[in-house]
Amino acid sequence: MLLFSTDIDGTIFDGPETAEIFANFWQNLQELPKQPLLVYNTGRSLDDVRALIRETALPSPDFIIAGVGTEMFEQAKGKVIDEWNAELSGHWDFETVHRLVSAQIEDIEAQPDECQNEFKCSWFYYDKSRDDLDRIGELIESAGLEAQVIYSSNRDLDILPRQANKGNALRWLAAWKEIPLSRVAVAGDSGNDSSMFLVDDTFGVVVSNAEDALVSAVAGGNAYLSEESCARGVIEGLSRHLGLDTQSLSNETHAQG
Ligand SMILES: [Mg+2]
Repeated sequence: MLLFSTDIDGTIFDGPETAEIFANFWQNLQELPKQPLLVYNTGRSLDDVRALIRETALPSPDFIIAGVGTEMFEQAKGKVIDEWNAELSGHWDFETVHRLVSAQIEDIEAQPDECQNEFKCSWFYYDKSRDDLDRIGELIESAGLEAQVIYSSNRDLDILPRQANKGNALRWLAAWKEIPLSRVAVAGDSGNDSSMFLVDDTFGVVVSNAEDALVSAVAGGNAYLSEESCARGVIEGLSRHLGLDTQSLSNETHAQG
């Protein structure tokens, strides 16, 4: 494994305890002959992830993919990766999307600024049908833009460039770092993680607390369904994948803790 791309919430983190468990495990992995890169791949905004890293025991990653694939950040350089922004820019224009939706869709409310970025136009849109969503898709297409309309919790509507998702961002980053996808592993717990699991040969860990949407999306692929939940489930799955002795790892973790 040369790169590990993991969701945060519900996957390696659900509070201070899981943050420490994962941090200890990752610390132990630093003794591998070739240290894997750590990538957080999350729906949270970039600012939000950076604050979380400062405030918890979560280890500092090499890269952050934030806003479901719409922002990419290189931690060591402390800067956004502009090349990924350039990838997303074709057939996309935030101002146009925002203007069209504001002007032509009823009962919709823009989410707060911190939930938006140049490549993520997010709204509150309560209890809508597939037809309502299709109408928004057609409206955006009619302006010559290529977007995806993602609806969750019967409330949150995200409009993103068509190629923006966790999996495409990961695929691009691996190519940029010249890491073969067969040496990449992923982990997640919810539907928007499925695109990471569907990246070619990648091995994936589905934690036991995962949503059914993820479990069914990855069925038949190269995924391991863990018995344990959250960070413990990730450790279980990665330990198997890497041929590590989970018992000795958790003992070490315990001894350090
Ligand atoms: Mg999650």
